Amino acid sequence: MILDRHARPLGTLRLSVTDRCNLRCRYCMPEDEYVWLPSESILSQGELVRLARIFVGLGAREVRVTGGEPLLRADLEAIVLGIAGVEGLADLALTTNGVLLADRAEALARAGLHRVTISLDTLRPERARALSRTTRLEDVLRGLRATQKAGLSGTKINAVVMRGVNEDEIGDLLELGRGHGAEVRFIEYMDVGGATRWSLADVVSREEILSAIANRFGTPARVDPHGSLAPAERFRLPDGTVFGVVASTTAPFCGSCDRSRVTADGVWLTCLYAEQGQSLRAPLREGASDETLAELIRLRWTARADRGAEERLRLPAREALVPISRLRADPHREMHTRGG
Ligand code: SF4
Repeated sequence: MILDRHARPLGTLRLSVTDRCNLRCRYCMPEDEYVWLPSESILSQGELVRLARIFVGLGAREVRVTGGEPLLRADLEAIVLGIAGVEGLADLALTTNGVLLADRAEALARAGLHRVTISLDTLRPERARALSRTTRLEDVLRGLRATQKAGLSGTKINAVVMRGVNEDEIGDLLELGRGHGAEVRFIEYMDVGGATRWSLADVVSREEILSAIANRFGTPARVDPHGSLAPAERFRLPDGTVFGVVASTTAPFCGSCDRSRVTADGVWLTCLYAEQGQSLRAPLREGASDETLAELIRLRWTARADRGAEERLRLPAREALVPISRLRADPHREMHTRGG
């Protein structure tokens, strides 16, 4: 196991397989046009699996395949199959908006995927149109049902809660999860790159989320009071339903953050808020050995001191992280490139 300067292990790898997305969620991709990563820079299936193997060899136990929208990759099943075969990997999950999931859940389960996290912020078609510019809400729900049919357990639903947008659906989303064996996680709206319209006034805090839930279902009790490395604080309702709250904006969890991200073009970022990353694609394509790549990662992780969200919390005034001009100049600052 390798530790960073705050004794945090290299534990979870978020591996982005594409920067493209078929939705345009207001909290992530609110603009009309984007600068995309050049297609020749996107890592191949073999390159992605090789990187996953090197990270697991260094102690990472969990890989989250992410995007953009990972189901836009036609070879996703092959990528999953390759990563699932990596020795020492304990958990392999896919983060998706679910639109294209229904027809592929079974093949992904067969390829060795352990579980799926579906992003779903509203159950109302007109809101889905306004919030994510999609008319395919029903397909997302089909995708959710398909995970059950494919025998995938541990499904999660991630819902970003925004004031004046969907905070009145917290209870309905919780009930949807309960009815489908999925744990719902409510996520505070974050001021990350890409969230160019972010404002503190639009953040529905952990306390507000918990109080909305308590009002409808009774007071939830904390699960795992001593916490794990998972970003979500978990709670149990009186009827046994478990849900999570990810308070990234008002109560960040940098102190236990074991995750890093590789973009679809092979840039490794040790924090969601990092200004710059380390290109792994260059050495990968220049013929570096596994040992050389592993040493590069080890050196950078042991020097890691990132606590991006905590630093944001200390700012006297807070606004969107990166102006649109800088996002256009460097799409690596975009959350949809960094894998959320
Ligand atoms: S802000 Fe950075 S260090 Fe803090 S939890 Fe997020 S990724 Fe980890």
